[in-house]
This record gives sequence, C-alpha cells and structure tokens, in this order.
Amino acid sequence: MRALHPVTRRNVVGGLAASATALAVPHVARAQSVARVAVIGGGFAGAACARALKRIDPKLDVTLIEPNRTFTACPFSNEVIAGLRDLEAQQFGYDRIAGEGVHVVAQTATRVDPQARTVTLADGTSLSYDRLVLSPGIDLRFDALPGYDEAASAKMPHAWKAGEQTTLLRRQLEAMDDGGVVVLAVPANPSRCPPAPYERASLIAHYLKTTKPRSKVLILDAKDAFPQQRLFEGAWKELYAGMIERISLSQGGRVTSVDPATNTIITEFGDHTAQVANVIPPQKAGRITDIAGAADKTGWCPIDPVTFASKLVPDIHVIGDACLGGAIPKSASAANAQGKACAAAVASLISGRAPDMPRLTGVCYNIVAPGHAFSLAGFYAPKDSIFVEVEGGGASPLDAPREVRTREAEDARRWFATITVDSFG
Ligand SMILES: Cc1cc2nc3c(=O)[nH]c(=O)nc-3n(C[C@H](O)[C@H](O)[C@H](O)COP(=O)(O)OP(=O)(O)OC[C@H]3O[C@@H](n4cnc5c(N)ncnc54)[C@H](O)[C@@H]3O)c2cc1C
Repeated sequence: MRALHPVTRRNVVGGLAASATALAVPHVARAQSVARVAVIGGGFAGAACARALKRIDPKLDVTLIEPNRTFTACPFSNEVIAGLRDLEAQQFGYDRIAGEGVHVVAQTATRVDPQARTVTLADGTSLSYDRLVLSPGIDLRFDALPGYDEAASAKMPHAWKAGEQTTLLRRQLEAMDDGGVVVLAVPANPSRCPPAPYERASLIAHYLKTTKPRSKVLILDAKDAFPQQRLFEGAWKELYAGMIERISLSQGGRVTSVDPATNTIITEFGDHTAQVANVIPPQKAGRITDIAGAADKTGWCPIDPVTFASKLVPDIHVIGDACLGGAIPKSASAANAQGKACAAAVASLISGRAPDMPRLTGVCYNIVAPGHAFSLAGFYAPKDSIFVEVEGGGASPLDAPREVRTREAEDARRWFATITVDSFG
C-alpha cells in the first residue's frame, strides 16, 4: 500500500510553503492552501467524485475534464432499445456541477505526465494537478474479436456505451421483419455490468413478443454462469417461452469472429446469421489509463482499495469501471460509491489525515418486462489489498408474488432518479 502523502511544497499551490511561518504551521492549517485535483471522465464515478471533493473541502480546486456536454447513462438504456423509454430520459448535463464550484472543462484528456503532474487536453492546453483521478469508464477492444472493429459496430452495434449506438440498435429492431433472429454476442468477464446483456435479451424479447411474435433472441455467451441466472431463466420461461435461446460457453457459445458483410456470427461450433446482431466485444479500461501508465497487461487498473491510488503511478487514483475492483461489479452504483469514497480519501491525503476504510454498497436492478424486476445488493470492503464482498448483501427471492417484482421495478426507477441526482446534481 502506498504511504500517506504528506502535504509538501510539491503538492500545495499557493504561497504558504514559501514563508517560514508556513513551515511551522501544523498539517490542518497548511491543508487550507489550495490543492488542485483533476478528474478525467464525468460519468457516474467521476461526476460523483468531483462533487464530493468540493463538498468535503470547498477550498479544493477541482477540475472535471469531460468532452461531452451531455452525459448519456447506460442504466435503463435497455428500455430505450426496447422502445419503452426515450433516450432524452438518459441524458444529464454538467451545469449543476459547475454551479457547485467545479471547473468543468469540455475537452478530451489526451496525455498525462505523472512526473510533471500535468494533463494535456485535445486543444493542446495543459493543466497541473496535485492529485489526479482517472474515471474514463471502458473502451471496447476493437482488436480482440476478429472481424469486429469500429466500422463493424456501425452494422453490428454493441450499444455498450449509451447514445448513438443505443438508437442504432433500436432502429434495427424496428426495421426487422417478424420472424427474424436477434443475436446477442456476450463477452467473458471482466466487463461492464455483467447482468445487463440478459436484461437486454429480456427487454428485446418483450418488444418482439408485443410487435413481432414469430421472432427470436439467441444469446451466444462466452460464460457459463451469470448473475441472477435462475431468476432470469425463470422469467424467460414465464414471460417469453420459446423466444430466448442461450448457448453457453461449454455448449460452444463463445463467439470467435464476426462477418459484418453478411451479419454472420461465428462460434467454435457453427455460424449464425442474424437479422439484428448485437455484438458486445471484450473491454478494457478507457485509453487514457494506458497513456497515464495506470493500466496493467490485463487492460485494467490495479488500485489500493483504501485510497483508490494506482498501484503503478504516483498521485493518480482510478475509480469506476476502469479499476480492478476485486469483487466489486462494474456498475453505475459501484462507480458512484467509489467516486465518493475516493473523494474522501483524496481529501484526507491532501490534508495529511489517514483515510477511512471504505465500505461500499452496490445495488443492481434487472428489469425483464415493464413492471417486473429483481435485484442484487452487495457490500464491499478492502481485504488483502483488494475489495472483497462482506456480509449484508442479498438478492431477490427466486419465488415471489408478482407484487414483489412490481415493487422492485418501482424501486429501480427510484434508484435511477436518486443516483443520477447524486452524481450530476
Ligand atoms: C446496457 C447497460 C445497462 C446497465 N445497467 C446498469 C444498471 O442497471 N445499474 C448499474 O449500476 N449499472 C449499470 N450499467 C453499468 C454502468 O453504466 C457503468 O458501470 C457505469 O457507467 C460506470 O461508470 P464510470 O464513471 O466508470 O464510466 P462512464 O459512466 O462510462 O463514464 C466515463 C466518462 O469518461 C469520459 N472519458 C473517457 N475518456 C476520457 C478522456 N480521455 N478525457 C475526458 N473524458 C473521458 C467519457 O466520455 C464518459 O463520460 C449498465 C451498463 C450497460 C452497458
């Protein structure tokens, strides 16, 4: 674990360190100097972190670097794909965060120099930091699945980053004839939101059942097991009998290549031609983590779970989907919790205090039809230099009356309203 970072001349901006009086003042007083924290990526993790930093210590100079003026959220985007929700309901701006005193810079970060502690932006300007938080989410690995590159994603959308890809998949489903097959290619872990492909399969089946009932959903899966599997499979039997087929890893479901020209998806055991192909490729931490030297050979970022400090680069913290969070799933819920815990740790380190041990909560709702959902909640704490799941979590019961599922669907909407306000103001 990295040692606590004392407040030194190096990490304090302002004139304090220049005077003899300043050298004599205790940590607390010195902490009142303006330290600069830059956060790269304004998603659930980064936005929550920037807001929390300012709340914990209003004197901190906090900059949030995010190229998009509007953030488009992935949770509930499967409902957009199924025609149950507008994309606008997924979108959030940064005005409130800026109103709280965070400098919001609408740029992509292109370079990080950990020695000079500077970030270079796409317009060529650079800014200095005392601590840097990386929260760029995921990048899709366009080199990992033969045939699937960025151009292929215009034909076979992944819709694993919400926005144009979400709308594209929706349009393809609308244009599909009744009787068509929608193929979902699901990658191995680690990946963003492991249960979301199965929620997507359910909601696509709901759309097909109500508009194109002779159609089918085929899941080609690089995994044998997935979260809440028995609940999903029970719901598929009850709601979509004969409409959803899944071929697991051990049944030969792993996709080995794709051919966008013919919409063909190839596995070790055969070829599948799709009317609509939703190919979710393998993933890695957002590219800026690699540029900063914070990603290891897995493509993800090892961190100290107490402070979220990178194990590879000094003065850099990594949160959200980009970090290797041990047992913590890559979810918006966890990203938001990590953002706030990291803000507390960074504020402590800057002021020379020992950071508290974080205990994080993650909750994940899976919606299988309008008014029908189930959930999984977990608690996570640092142990042996990673996050492990600790007692207190739980999942929806396998057998429950419909009112319970309806209540969980309402809870899911409340969760989304709460977490988006908590992250974006
Ligand atoms: C279909 C789907 C459904 C999901 N449903 C749920 C759900 O129900 N519940 C749940 O908890 N989670 C869900 N998730 C997962 C959730 O969306 C992610 O785990 C979450 O968004 C991760 O947050 P993050 O801040 O790490 O990344 P993101 O939210 O992706 O934010 C990353 C941000 O960084 C910015 N960025 C990247 N690189 C740079 C750079 N170089 N410079 C500046 N900015 C940069 C990006 O523009 C982006 O805004 C779902 C995901 C999917 C795909």
